Amino acid sequence: YAHPHHQGQQKIKVLCRVRPFLAHETPDGSVQVEEDQKVLRATNLRDPEKDIRYTFDACYGDEVSQETVYNNDVKPLIENVFNGLDTTIFCYGVTGAGKTHTIQGNENEPGIIPRAFKQIFQLAHNNVSPTGDGDGGCEIKVSYYEIYKEAVFDLFKPDLTTAHTATDPSATASASATTSTTTSTVVQPSGLPIREDVNRKIFIAGLSEKVVTTYDQFISLYTTACKYRRTGSTKLNSHSSRSHAILTVQVTTTTTQGKVHLIDLAGSEDNRKTDNKGRHRMAESSAINRSLFVLGQVVEALNSGAHRIPYRDSKMTRILQDSLGGRCVGMMIVNVAPGKAFLQDTHNTLNFATKSRDV
Ligand code: ADP
Ligand code: MG
Repeated sequence: YAHPHHQGQQKIKVLCRVRPFLAHETPDGSVQVEEDQKVLRATNLRDPEKDIRYTFDACYGDEVSQETVYNNDVKPLIENVFNGLDTTIFCYGVTGAGKTHTIQGNENEPGIIPRAFKQIFQLAHNNVSPTGDGDGGCEIKVSYYEIYKEAVFDLFKPDLTTAHTATDPSATASASATTSTTTSTVVQPSGLPIREDVNRKIFIAGLSEKVVTTYDQFISLYTTACKYRRTGSTKLNSHSSRSHAILTVQVTTTTTQGKVHLIDLAGSEDNRKTDNKGRHRMAESSAINRSLFVLGQVVEALNSGAHRIPYRDSKMTRILQDSLGGRCVGMMIVNVAPGKAFLQDTHNTLNFATKSRDV
C-alpha cells in the first residue's frame, strides 16, 4: 500500500457516499453517481436543467454495501496500523446523510467500527508473538470520547459525561458581555484538558484507555458508551448529533505502535436553518461550524503540502495533530442524502469536500 507522505501529495483521500432513499422519502433523485465511481453529479439549484459535477477518489451510490466500502477503502488502512502507521477516518455530512450508518452501522449492516475491530483482532491473533502468548504479543487499547462545544468528554466515564447539568461559565460570561441580565442555565461541563507530554506528544489528560482482548469485549464496551453520546433536539432531526465522536484504537506490537481514529463528525448543516435561537444552541452551532471549518482547512493544507497547518485552531485537530502530521494516512468520507430536500446541503457538503481534496 503506497504511503503518500511526500509533500504535495494527497494525504487524506476524499470519498463520497450517497445513501438510499428512506421509506418515508419521495424518490426525487437529484444526485447521480457516474459509472466510473469517481464523479457525482448534483442538480444545479439555480439552473435545474443542469448538473454540477464533483470529482472524488471514489464515489459510491446507494447500491454499494458496507462490506464493499470496507474492503475497498478501509481494510488496507487498518492493515497498516500493524506497521506503525496512523490512520484517521472521518465521516462528514449533514444530519441524516448517513455518517453514523457508515462509521458504526447496525447489527444487520455493521459499519466501519465493528469491521475494523474484527480485522484488528484477526491480525493480532495472526501476529505470532515470540513468547507465544494468546494475543500474539499485541496490545489493543481503546478510548472513546466526544468533543462538544470545544470540550472533551470521556464516553467510557459516564459520570463525567453526564456532569452536564452544571451552569455554563461561558454563557454567564457572554451574558455579561452583552450587558444582558438574563442568566441561562445551560448544560456545559468543563471537559478534559489537552496537554503535551515531555516528548511534546499531545494527550487528553485523564482520558480512560481500555485494554480489550476480544471482539465481543470491545462491542459490549462500545455499545454501552454509545448511549452517553450527547444529542440535542433541533428542527431538522430530534436525534441529531451535535458533537464529534472519536474512537481511538492503539495497536502496540513488539516492534511497532500505530493508532486508528474513527470519527463520526457533528452534523455539518447550516445551523441557521434549524432555528437554533437560544443562546445555548447558538454557542453550540458556532462551535460546530468553526471546528468543521478548521478541519477542512487542515485537510486542505495537508493535501497541498502547505508548511503551516492550523492544527491549533480547534480542539479536534489539535488532538489529532500527531496522527495527521506524522506517518499517517487518512480518509474523509462525505455522506450525502439523495433527495431534493437536501440539495442545498448536498452542494455545501460537496464544495467542502472538493476544496479539501484539490491540491
Ligand atoms: P447521520 O449519522 O449522518 O445523521 P444516519 O447514519 O443516522 O445519518 O442515517 C440516516 C438514516 O439513513 C438512518 O435511518 C440510516 O439507517 C439510513 N441510512 C444511511 N445510510 C444508509 C445506507 N447506506 N444504506 C441504508 N440505510 C442508510
Ligand atoms: Mg449520526
